[in-house]
Amino acid sequence: MSEKPHFICQSSGESYPLESLKWQGAHGALLDLEHSNRLDLDAVKSSNDYSLWRYQSGMGLPKAISRVSFAEGFSPLVRLEVERQAVEIKLDYLFPSGSYKDRGATALISLAKHLGVNEVVQDSSGNAGAAIANYCALAGISCRIFVPANTSPAKLVQISSFGAQIELVEGSREMTAQAAREAAADTFYASHVWNPIFYEGTKTFAYEICEQRAWRVPDAVVLPAGNGTLLIGAYIGFNELKDWGIIQKLPKLVGVQASNCAPLYHEFHGLDPQSNQPTYAEGIAIAIPGRAQQMLDAVRKTGGTFIKVTEGEIAQALKEAISKGYFIEPTSAAVFAGLKNYLREYAGEGEEVVSVFTGNGLKSSEKIQKILKK
Ligand SMILES: *Cc1c(COP(=O)(O)O)cnc(C)c1O
Repeated sequence: MSEKPHFICQSSGESYPLESLKWQGAHGALLDLEHSNRLDLDAVKSSNDYSLWRYQSGMGLPKAISRVSFAEGFSPLVRLEVERQAVEIKLDYLFPSGSYKDRGATALISLAKHLGVNEVVQDSSGNAGAAIANYCALAGISCRIFVPANTSPAKLVQISSFGAQIELVEGSREMTAQAAREAAADTFYASHVWNPIFYEGTKTFAYEICEQRAWRVPDAVVLPAGNGTLLIGAYIGFNELKDWGIIQKLPKLVGVQASNCAPLYHEFHGLDPQSNQPTYAEGIAIAIPGRAQQMLDAVRKTGGTFIKVTEGEIAQALKEAISKGYFIEPTSAAVFAGLKNYLREYAGEGEEVVSVFTGNGLKSSEKIQKILKK
């Protein structure tokens, strides 16, 4: 039976229609999305829409939705030699706002527009805020973005130039999230962590990888592990393709954290938690990921692992990527460092590995200059 997409509370199992604008369930539990849409593979194969919206048939959104879109997505998948092995890298740093967060933003702001929302609230360490502000500008929706006081100046300029109101919050990333949640009590919370619709966008990352490899699934995918918006999205996407019989197995998902802030690495490997230190990889420095359990489950169920990388390894990986012509930001370089570790220490002979450049270096050129000088 065909069911309209709806939210499901992870704790009580209660369901809510998308029109409810809910972003949390009973007692503050997380929501997931359920839908019975199915990717129309023939339509995809004959589509001349070279954006992530070519997969709309598989996305859990209302059929009649009108898109808030820059024809984003379907990012290049390039071959690169890393640690003397051929790997493939998705160039998600080429998105309109400069990071893969646009995958989620186009899905979420399209839904907000569809439902007649005219104001949203969001919190971010920078890039998710930039993506939401970017798509709100296109949609004509006003938005307030809560960010930690130490966010990169370039990201703040990017957010405010779209007309979004910035709320600087002193203290931890968690305090920023708390302030946004309070403000969201009576508006739409366009949260990349809480709102399940964001993952309906990020899951297209998995669809694209498979289609760009002639529907052959790789053996492993190396991803950032901050809040897990790409990791969980990828897990959902690969699982759906498997459920629909389009691919036969799941790739191992490998989550990369900075050693200076690696709660999931420690939990996954049964190690004692450690206190967190600042890191070059500001975008994955998440001390308490809201969907930690889902990230751990996704990695475990695919037979993957968590890897951590030191500040020295991040700096080295940043230099290597930029010397090859890929101007990525330090957070993105952390994933590249993790890919290098994975290839050296974990990958089997002939394993087919895909990874991603997540964010554009233009967002943090001052920081990059400092790192390259070292
Ligand atoms: C958000 C972000 C990440 C981390 O993604 P999570 O969803 O938090 O795991 C990595 N790189 C860049 C450039 C980002 O913007």
